[in-house]
Amino acid sequence: MSVADILAQARDGRRISPADALLLYREGEFIHLGAAANAVRRAQNDPATATYLVDRNINYTNVCITDCLFCAFYRPPGHAEAYVLSREEFARKIDELRAIGGTRILLQGGHHPDLRLEWYEDLLKWLKAEYPDVEANAFSPSEVTHIAEVEKLPLEEVLRRLAAAGLKGLPGGGAEILDDAVRDEISPKKLKTAGWLEAMRLAHKHGLATTASMVIGFGESYEHRVNHLVRLRELQDESLAKHGNGFTAFISWTAQLDTVPMSGLVRRKGLRPAGAQEYLRNIAVARLFLDNFRHHSASWPTQGVAIAQVALNAGCDDYGSTMMEENVVSQAGNSTMSSIVVEEMQLQIREAGFVPAQRDTRYKILKRDGVEAEV
Ligand code: SF4
Repeated sequence: MSVADILAQARDGRRISPADALLLYREGEFIHLGAAANAVRRAQNDPATATYLVDRNINYTNVCITDCLFCAFYRPPGHAEAYVLSREEFARKIDELRAIGGTRILLQGGHHPDLRLEWYEDLLKWLKAEYPDVEANAFSPSEVTHIAEVEKLPLEEVLRRLAAAGLKGLPGGGAEILDDAVRDEISPKKLKTAGWLEAMRLAHKHGLATTASMVIGFGESYEHRVNHLVRLRELQDESLAKHGNGFTAFISWTAQLDTVPMSGLVRRKGLRPAGAQEYLRNIAVARLFLDNFRHHSASWPTQGVAIAQVALNAGCDDYGSTMMEENVVSQAGNSTMSSIVVEEMQLQIREAGFVPAQRDTRYKILKRDGVEAEV
């Protein structure tokens, strides 16, 4: 099949194959990929609206023993800059979020060797008691797997206990590229592809909200990217069929490699950061291939507002979230901004040609164009 045939097939709502996706990556021009992805996005979601989430990222600790080569955020145990947030710091951050109408916190941190499961449970219980109106999505697959290893408990048991303590969802971080050839090179101590997928499989089984992420620009091949998308699509099929609960959305961004430990690898391989063109091609191919993901989010922190606005017209139906602070990607390179205030985000969505609609984690619309949505 030609690129044009594949794009026509996807626009008609017929599933494309991994070989088709590979051809799109190799030969598809953005102008064509983006137009087809936009047509699919408009068929799957309200064409007039682009959603956003008012939330806050909170990095509860920067202590980590996993030493990913692309990470400039973490500090080893005992380092002078190592921290674990206090309850007072959590409270201040969440109060700031509530002041702008926020509904969710996203807790992510390093793999701390000494924090026990009870610490995470106590935190979630405290959050639920103090802030019942703010949903806690927390601990990506690699974090929950690390907790299970520290406790020597089955992962499912850990997830069950965290959910009982108040956990509502798992962030999709730590996926990077779901191909062990890439993971072995950039994050050899981190959980492998099968581990990431298994954590999400169990999260779906236990009714948690999840997202799927993808980070490009590590020097991965197009085959590696297709493998990543195939694994997500297969798990989504499985989880929706078994539990009626799968990933709520897909989001990709570009690796920031300016100041990271893998700068030697970057030099050796002659890696250049994935730019705007490659980012946009990737989100378009993902929209065309992941036909069982209704929602695709744009990423403004790595590519900036202008490209995120283009993304809304090239496959994405969601503008992402306010984040309020972002410490992981931004410490590794030229992140364009670390937070967007709500009014600015609404303005940018309008400029891109859409009505801005505030949503919750599960994409229920809370406000449309600043006005409370009818229940
Ligand atoms: S990316 Fe996460 S797991 Fe890897 S070193 Fe950084 S904090 Fe640790």
